[in-house]
Amino acid sequence: MDVYSNVSCIKGVGPKTKKVLEDCSIYTIMDLLLYFPRDYKEYNSCNNFNEGKDKEEVIVACKAIDIKKDIRIPGGKTITTIIFTDGNNNIKCKWFNQPYIKNSFMLNNEYVLKGKINIYKNEKMLTNPKVLKEQLWGNEKNIEPVYPLRNGITNSTFIKLINEILKKVEIEENLPEWIIDKHKFISLNEAIRNIHYPKDKSALFESKKRLKYQELFTYSLKIAMLKNMRNTSKGISFNISDSLKNLKEKLPFQLTEAQNRAVREILIDQKKPVVMNRLVQGDVGSGKTVVGIISAFNIIMNGYQVAFMAPTEILANQHFEEANKILEGFNINIKLLCGSISAKEKEAIKRDLKEGKIHMIIGTHALLEDDVEFDNLGFIITDEQHRFGVMQRSKLINKGENPDTLVMTATPIPRTLALYLYGDLEVSIIDQLPPGRQKIDTYFIKSSEKNRAYSFAIKEIKEGRQVYIVCPLVEENENLELTSVEYLHEELNNKYFKDIPTAILHGKMPSKEKNNIMNKFKNGEIKILIATTVIEVGVNIPNATLMIVENAERFGLAQLHQLRGRVGRGSKKSYCILIGEVKNHITKKRMETMVKSNDGFFIADQDFKLRGSGEIFGFKQHGTEEFLLCNIVEDIEAFKLAHEDAKLIWKSENLLDKNIIKYIMKRLETNTRYICFN
Ligand code: ADP
Ligand code: MG
Repeated sequence: MDVYSNVSCIKGVGPKTKKVLEDCSIYTIMDLLLYFPRDYKEYNSCNNFNEGKDKEEVIVACKAIDIKKDIRIPGGKTITTIIFTDGNNNIKCKWFNQPYIKNSFMLNNEYVLKGKINIYKNEKMLTNPKVLKEQLWGNEKNIEPVYPLRNGITNSTFIKLINEILKKVEIEENLPEWIIDKHKFISLNEAIRNIHYPKDKSALFESKKRLKYQELFTYSLKIAMLKNMRNTSKGISFNISDSLKNLKEKLPFQLTEAQNRAVREILIDQKKPVVMNRLVQGDVGSGKTVVGIISAFNIIMNGYQVAFMAPTEILANQHFEEANKILEGFNINIKLLCGSISAKEKEAIKRDLKEGKIHMIIGTHALLEDDVEFDNLGFIITDEQHRFGVMQRSKLINKGENPDTLVMTATPIPRTLALYLYGDLEVSIIDQLPPGRQKIDTYFIKSSEKNRAYSFAIKEIKEGRQVYIVCPLVEENENLELTSVEYLHEELNNKYFKDIPTAILHGKMPSKEKNNIMNKFKNGEIKILIATTVIEVGVNIPNATLMIVENAERFGLAQLHQLRGRVGRGSKKSYCILIGEVKNHITKKRMETMVKSNDGFFIADQDFKLRGSGEIFGFKQHGTEEFLLCNIVEDIEAFKLAHEDAKLIWKSENLLDKNIIKYIMKRLETNTRYICFN
């Protein structure tokens, strides 16, 4: 078996498990090795059972000394009791409804048990402990990895499979020696082993340090490649069109000063004979789309084509509508290209695009397909670009000859981070909201008071408004009692919203259905939209005035701010109600920040401060696809180092270094999981 063999060659992986793994995007051994734990559970080794505390999770090495007769209790249940000894103390273990467990034990044999101490009526016992056949996760400190679970693969299955692999494979080193020496990294082999089964906290730290660097380094190399690919000195010089005046007069509103400034900066860039690479940063609702459309208009007036890419179909649709509205009457041919468009229509669009009959194409990832060709692509706009990978960016850029690019994002990114993420670029900031916008009043309430939020929703609906209710995605996970959309939908419909038209929206639905529901919500047929974070970015429905977020403590603050930005988009007073549990003072602070502030930049900063960087054993937030382990904000120092090294290696004349680049490029073409590239 080598690391790129299919998972089916692992002992214990049959067709069923294979299918489930594939659903988690795990195809090869390497994919599985790169499926990192999201957390770790620490068990105390308990050498003296008498000193164990109530509710403590422990591991005890012990000997079975007495197997009692099962007790039957009302309801047909059984309790099995076995007494063990740790040498000094007796340990009473009880299992409920597992009479067969007796067969696992023989008197006077030794076992390792894992379980929780319960003190019941002054008696200390372990309830339902598990037997560890071997020290399953092979380390001394009893740190158990906790994997993100989906689709019915249990944590112990992951542990078993990965253990099995690690017994058989050695992972080859793939960074040049000078980099390893420079940063005193542990080997890749050691790093991968320790991320799954850390010997101790410091080993885990070293392993994360190495693997994070690896992600950032690979990313930085891709950026270097992208830069190399673009001949910046050969940009197109676009004239500033006289028709812009007419367009401005026809706009349904007056641009804010900040929007005007951004447009000016973009037009000046477009005029320059060098390739433009600009980022427009503006808080949610600041009106970035119209800035993009105006700058696209100028390109079209110069006789070139524009591609406008959005991360979701809902957003692409919305931009399409806005572009049509704003550019109406200028004889501009705008088309929408995304997954749900019929094959026949797609074909026609692609043909017209290639022949230059379409001036502006708006779409999703569908724009990246090989057979989407342009006559003369001059300008690329991407909305919320951090959702697209570097390779995707380069693909689009390659469809034109040194086209200008504009990136729009609501995520406040520090200047240096933007540089590492996007390469050399200019930044325009829209730091002003359109007039008439009001502060969104935000409240935090406990789950037990939920019904207050729902009553308020009914009140808003009676006033003719609409409501979003968002809940986190469900992960099949015993430790987290999360609300799933479907379950929530049913509960709410039965209990609170009997006569109100509601609908659910989540990422797993077919695009057609999603669009259908969004349209119904837009035209008011649906009053309450119960959704996952698919509506997190950019959706614009001014009549929606209330955002309710369930399990709010589970979301990052920047994400909550994005969600909240779905309301307050018109002139109507809007509200956001966060429902959650306060588990510790950090959660409390986080929720308070949301209640207190409507400023995206302030919130992002607080988020960063509150999460802190020392949370090695803490909960991992979901990163962007590009990064499995890194939090690009927290890991900015490492990013800087990786960025510098990547620049060095890109320019290096050393043969070994050159080979590394070749390897990476080869792997990148075939493999999205890229940490290991040899
Ligand atoms: P975001 O920056 O979050 O992407 P949008 O571009 O979706 O924001 O704009 C939000 C809403 O504000 C849209 O309905 C848009 O038409 C409107 N809008 C944009 N600019 C202005 C303005 N200057 N005055 C009034 N409304 C505006
Ligand atoms: Mg937007």
